[in-house]
Amino acid sequence: MKAPVIAIVVPCYNEEQVLPVSIPSLLSALDSMVTDNLIAPESYLMCCDDGSKDSTWNQINRYHQMDSRVKGLRFSNNRGQQFALLAGLLNVVDHCDAAITIDADLQDDVGAMHRMVEKFRIGTEIVYGVRHGRESDSWFKRNTARGFYSLQRNLGLETVYDHADFRLMSRNAIKLLSQYGEQNLFLRGIVPLLGLTSDTVEYDRKERCAGSSKYSIRRMLGFSIDGITSFSSRPIRMILTVGVLLLLLDIAMTIYVFISYMGNNVIPGWTSLMLSVWFLGSLILISLGIVGEYIGKIFVEVKNRPRYIIKEYLID
Ligand code: UDP
Ligand code: MG
Repeated sequence: MKAPVIAIVVPCYNEEQVLPVSIPSLLSALDSMVTDNLIAPESYLMCCDDGSKDSTWNQINRYHQMDSRVKGLRFSNNRGQQFALLAGLLNVVDHCDAAITIDADLQDDVGAMHRMVEKFRIGTEIVYGVRHGRESDSWFKRNTARGFYSLQRNLGLETVYDHADFRLMSRNAIKLLSQYGEQNLFLRGIVPLLGLTSDTVEYDRKERCAGSSKYSIRRMLGFSIDGITSFSSRPIRMILTVGVLLLLLDIAMTIYVFISYMGNNVIPGWTSLMLSVWFLGSLILISLGIVGEYIGKIFVEVKNRPRYIIKEYLID
């Protein structure tokens, strides 16, 4: 097999402090893979400036002048890491055999790319970078992240545990990904849906090499909630379940209320009030749940996702 052309896609938002460290480091990673005959010398970096307000774009420009393997694109405003990644992938898809997405801050292990490409070369279409440990994260971040992974699992979203957005995708995988036209983009949820052959590569996640995190707690929380609500309408179904459970409980309550009424030890008005509160409560929840079921259908329809992904053909 000919050595593949690899594009490294790097989302950058206000990363002026980081790029002088990470661009040279990524370039030398490319060099060493070229030396090992693992990738083609035309392999390159695609830096996606997500509407930075600092000198990030100037830096990308400066490196581009020095080395034409540094390419870039620039958003007119900040659209978030997921869109920066998508724009990068869609722009490299016709000019590479596979792309690796990696954060600009080098928290992900540059050395792990070597192993990713090795797996790609034996035919794996998607290689997920999975963190070995979370020692470099704060106690808070580690535990909230774990909590959200399990919540997402329980709500039926198939994500790869402890994998963020450090992954290799073959050109074919990126082409399939481009069929997903949704606005609430959560790549970690979509990529496993492609159903292609995949493997993982473990690495130790380090501290940010410079600058500060672009995700505040509020933004992190918003991202996680988006992740769940973009993939699962199960929370809607829960309303219906609770409504039905309440209706069952209502039957028990009715019996209890009648027994008390017969026993004559009730204040006037209590019986009718109790009966209506319970019955109406469950009726309201069930109705909400039914409306929700339809909204759930609309939710799936408006996404306009591909209805199936064809993995292989055997037709001629
Ligand atoms: N990023 C981006 N747009 C944003 C926020 C972040 O492109 O709106 C990029 C950022 O430049 C970095 C990556 O996404 O390359 C991960 O961000 P960060 O390191 O701040 O997140 P953390 O590692 O703290 O979760
Ligand atoms: Mg980071």
